[in-house]
Amino acid sequence: MDTIAAQLLSRRVLEMEESATLRMAQLARNLTAQGLQVINLSLGEPDFDTPDHIKEAAKKALDDGYTKYSPVPGLVELRQAIVRKFKRDNDLDFSLNQIVVSNGAKQSLANLSLALLNEGDEAIILAPYWVSYYEIIRLGGGKPVAVKAGIEQDFKVTPPHLKAAITEHTKFVLFSSPCNPTGSVYSREELKGLADVIAKHDNLLIIADEIYEYINFTDQHVSIGAFDNVRDRTITVNGFAKGFAMTGWRLGYMGAPAWIAEACTKIQGQVTSGANSFAQKAGAYALDADLQPTYEMRDAFLRRRDLTLQLLEDVPGLLSNHPQGAFYVFPDVSYYFGKSDGTTTIQNADDLAMYILENAHVALVSGSGFGADECIRISFAASDEDLIEATRRMKEVLGKLK
Ligand code: PMP
Ligand code: GLU
Repeated sequence: MDTIAAQLLSRRVLEMEESATLRMAQLARNLTAQGLQVINLSLGEPDFDTPDHIKEAAKKALDDGYTKYSPVPGLVELRQAIVRKFKRDNDLDFSLNQIVVSNGAKQSLANLSLALLNEGDEAIILAPYWVSYYEIIRLGGGKPVAVKAGIEQDFKVTPPHLKAAITEHTKFVLFSSPCNPTGSVYSREELKGLADVIAKHDNLLIIADEIYEYINFTDQHVSIGAFDNVRDRTITVNGFAKGFAMTGWRLGYMGAPAWIAEACTKIQGQVTSGANSFAQKAGAYALDADLQPTYEMRDAFLRRRDLTLQLLEDVPGLLSNHPQGAFYVFPDVSYYFGKSDGTTTIQNADDLAMYILENAHVALVSGSGFGADECIRISFAASDEDLIEATRRMKEVLGKLK
């Protein structure tokens, strides 16, 4: 790094890891710009376009003059729709002053980290975890404590394991279900077990990231905040990016105890203000509208999950899990560690992801950024043709590793 950068940049940013998902997506774009036929299975993004009726609502909002600042926690109309949605889908009771709308769920999480953590506070993240959790917690001055479950337990942490990691410094427990990167979905009983452990500790909060709620292949989505013993201490984060294919719109939200919502609004008021006004109008419309397009996307993801699992069966050395939601498979690839094609030796999942990118021109993300060094993440939010071709290429280049 330039000496000037090293001297002048803050420790905060110097010590921060770049997002592994965004880095891989950029590497894939760079190779594509060089004229290579790269198949990008790195970024967790629906390949579908936003449904037309939601786009129309945004166009109408623009024509209706929704071009001005919105209230910092969000348009009343959207917050009312979120209150209804939480009740309808999640059995969660929030009032208007408990909802904060942000520029994506990522900002909701950053607000929470900044609002809740002090130096020395610990935040438990159930691992494998979504890449940004780790750095968002550090940005808030906290210490991320990963509690990891392996593929043999479907990447799901058990209550005793969680219990053992809680200390007097633990401020919150953060996890996603359906999970990015594993696609695992905690069942009602499993969530109840975690809630019972957390409820025994005064002042211990839960942040439930439910952004993949609508991409769930089990028969139901359960919100941990709906259990009576943790209702008052759970912050539920959600957003429009995944279920409505609205990644670029930057719209997310949380339902939280009023004092936390107020604190997040205060932070947001000094940093970004209210989210995009016409996107919020469209978001309000999307929540109340027919969810059929969302269910159709979910069904397409389910079909592609099955296709991907079937294709991966044919690739030696990948031990795949069986995701129940989201759009990722997270195979254990440790079989390849120590193997070489004569030029490159694979020491870890980072090496394997780079080897596959450079030789097969398929972009995936190493598990290291997700707290699982032995895995890689493959997004199946891609066309059948791309999935078929990507697996063919992977099989070919992996076959050269001896
Ligand atoms: N949480 C998880 C688990 C995610 O995968 C993502 C995807 N980026 C986010 C939060 C952030 O979502 P958004 O695009 O709404 O910021
Ligand atoms: N959540 C997606 C992913 O995990 C989008 C990229 C990001 O924001 O990290 O790939």
